[in-house]
Amino acid sequence: MFNIAVLPGDGIGAEIVPEAVKVLNAIGKKYGHSFRFTDGLIGGAAIDAVGVPLPEDTLKLCNESDAVLLGAIGGPKWDTLPVHLRPEAGALLPLRKALGLYANLRPAILYNALINASTLKREVIEGIDIMVIRELTGGLYFGEKKREKTPAGQSAVDTLVYSTEEIVRIARLGFEIAMKRKKILHSVDKANVLESSRLWRETVTELGKEYPEVELIHMYVDNCAMQLVRWPKQFDVIVTENMFGDILTDQASMLTGSIGMLPSASIGGNVGLYEPSHGSAPDIAGQKKANPLATILSAAMMIRYSFNLDREAEAIEDAVVRVLDLGYRTPDIMEDNGKPVNTEEMGDKVVEQIIG
Ligand code: NAD
Repeated sequence: MFNIAVLPGDGIGAEIVPEAVKVLNAIGKKYGHSFRFTDGLIGGAAIDAVGVPLPEDTLKLCNESDAVLLGAIGGPKWDTLPVHLRPEAGALLPLRKALGLYANLRPAILYNALINASTLKREVIEGIDIMVIRELTGGLYFGEKKREKTPAGQSAVDTLVYSTEEIVRIARLGFEIAMKRKKILHSVDKANVLESSRLWRETVTELGKEYPEVELIHMYVDNCAMQLVRWPKQFDVIVTENMFGDILTDQASMLTGSIGMLPSASIGGNVGLYEPSHGSAPDIAGQKKANPLATILSAAMMIRYSFNLDREAEAIEDAVVRVLDLGYRTPDIMEDNGKPVNTEEMGDKVVEQIIG
């Protein structure tokens, strides 16, 4: 029995998460596993219900579960609240911190059926399969912040701190994942300017001695941003710090077309958190237009990384490929001759492929 905390959150979260649950139930039925789902409140939905974006009950539920499946949080309704009450700052960051999730894994895989959805040329992107690993609990987003009055107005400070320990644990994950793939690891920093990046580079280089089979390439973040659109096929695994990773993961993911296709896993602690890379898409919420595949693929990552069910994870991923090959498309990935489906129908198509 695997206990899964289900946090649909806001906007399209409530539409896409049930599709992933449906797919997991199909997997459970086919392969003889039992998944128990318990719902919890988070984000704007939690603010509306109980006044805070991350209620104690939700935190307890997550801590007591084997994994967490999250939809998305946030929306215009809560954008003007004080920072500590806003869905992201008040829920997502503290949840990651509380669960000790120091690594965010975001695969960027190009599905052949969607090659035309990318804005880049076919020959540049064909066959790309990149894993971007972002450090998630250190750096600028968690450093001390302050504002001060100055004679001319105000000054603001964000602090960027990294310790050797934080760098080693994320870099080790990078090397370990590279060992299971093509054994090429790009470590991305800004060591020509930032002291924290110089420590990053020294530490990763030292750790690299333990992994002689992995080709370690250091790259400045500005160059990496350029190389990702110039020649993305050079990348296999990328490991980087929090803010650079925030930006590069979005950029890498867009190589593949739609944000509605991109899963993510946050791991490192006892309980992993799995969520689509996109937000709550308030512009299409409630219209059954949302693509549930990112969430379904996040569920595949969940059963792979948290439950070690590799065969079952592959069954989900293969089912998604087949559904795309059959031409089924939600509006975000629609193309000529595509067969239009809504959120729920897309989930049903994946289930059909799993059950066979
Ligand atoms: P977004 O990812 O929600 O949407 C960007 C664009 O992509 C929109 O046009 C949207 O319709 C489209 N899109 C996103 N997911 C889609 C899907 N599954 N299927 C089809 N189209 C999809 O980003 P945003 O508009 O910048 O942010 C909206 C809200 O989400 C904000 O409140 C933001 O703070 C929040 N947000 C939350 C998370 C999270 O929960 N992890 C991440 C990013 C943004």
